[in-house]
Amino acid sequence: MYSVWNPWHGCKRVSAGCLNCYVYRIDKAFNKDSSIVEKTKSFDYPIKKDKYGEYKLSVSESPVYACLSSDFFIQEADEWRDDIWKMIHTRSEIDFRIITKRIERFSECIPENWGDGYDNVTVICTCENQKMADKRLPVFLELPIKHREIIHEPMLESIEISSYLKSGKIEKVTCGGESGENARICNYDWILNTRKQCIMNNVSFEFRQTGENFIKEGKLYNIPRKSQISQAEKADINFSALKPSSCESKISKQRQYEESDDYSSDNPFNSILLQLSKSPLHSDIILSRREREYYKNNHDDIYKETEDIVIKYLLHIMSKDNGHIKEWGHPAYTAMKATGCCCRNCLYKWHNIPTNRKLTDREVKYITDLLMEWMKRDMKYS
Ligand code: SF4
Repeated sequence: MYSVWNPWHGCKRVSAGCLNCYVYRIDKAFNKDSSIVEKTKSFDYPIKKDKYGEYKLSVSESPVYACLSSDFFIQEADEWRDDIWKMIHTRSEIDFRIITKRIERFSECIPENWGDGYDNVTVICTCENQKMADKRLPVFLELPIKHREIIHEPMLESIEISSYLKSGKIEKVTCGGESGENARICNYDWILNTRKQCIMNNVSFEFRQTGENFIKEGKLYNIPRKSQISQAEKADINFSALKPSSCESKISKQRQYEESDDYSSDNPFNSILLQLSKSPLHSDIILSRREREYYKNNHDDIYKETEDIVIKYLLHIMSKDNGHIKEWGHPAYTAMKATGCCCRNCLYKWHNIPTNRKLTDREVKYITDLLMEWMKRDMKYS
């Protein structure tokens, strides 16, 4: 659950993501000029009380998204913002979330007692394309903020943000397409690419909605507004960042990995293996006694054999004949199941490798190396 608080209304377009801004779209229907920024009747809603002296805005309505019909840092609201900060500070038990395309104005808009940030404020920087990511994120990372997130919505192209995620300062990335008439296209590959970057950097990820015009595996779908969120949910690709100290299970692989030297190293497969270890479908899979024996006795050959199996089952595009693996006996088959490499659909979902073409040599190597890493850890910890 969440709620929305719009202390002012109206905005001015600042970048490509604003082209089909929903504030303008909705105001147009009421013949209202969206470029005029005005205080609303809800301006002081967080501190309004009822006849019993209780706040009308209850803790159960947290988090509260502030300023969704404007931009929190818009210049026209400068003289009102100090009052807003006071309310946010007063209601420290409520989490406030501020989404902005004007992060460059942040430093001139914070209150005197801001320090290194209020605990109850998350600032969310919108980057709809690579240009805006490279312009806004370097500024964003340097600001005194306790909780930072990124949002790609409307996502207009594939966006590389790994170098920013590596900072460890970003808590979450959210992606989504554009809604409404003239909505621009959003491609599922872009979403999966961002998801992969998040997993590799252990940053939470959410695919919030598809938008109106959505491409998946080269096919364009027109998705009605009422289904845009549910379609994204069906993709089931959200990721929660794993915190090494917070695992409760004493016997799970997740805990074993977290406590192991492997996890504390820079191994590039750490994030994906940890994520897989949280999946009910994959976490219980372990090598059988016979497979373990085989692994021990054929150690010198196992890389080549694994590579051959990857090529045999996964190289080509998906067809009826090369769907899920059907063979067992070699540890690589079990590793494929455990790592989301058992078919081209799973490869697409877990590793963002498209189904509609042959694997590249690099992808074959990536999968083989991943399977080897999983086998090595399973031998060590199971
Ligand atoms: S900043 Fe946000 S509210 Fe303002 S015009 Fe752009 S999309 Fe609309």
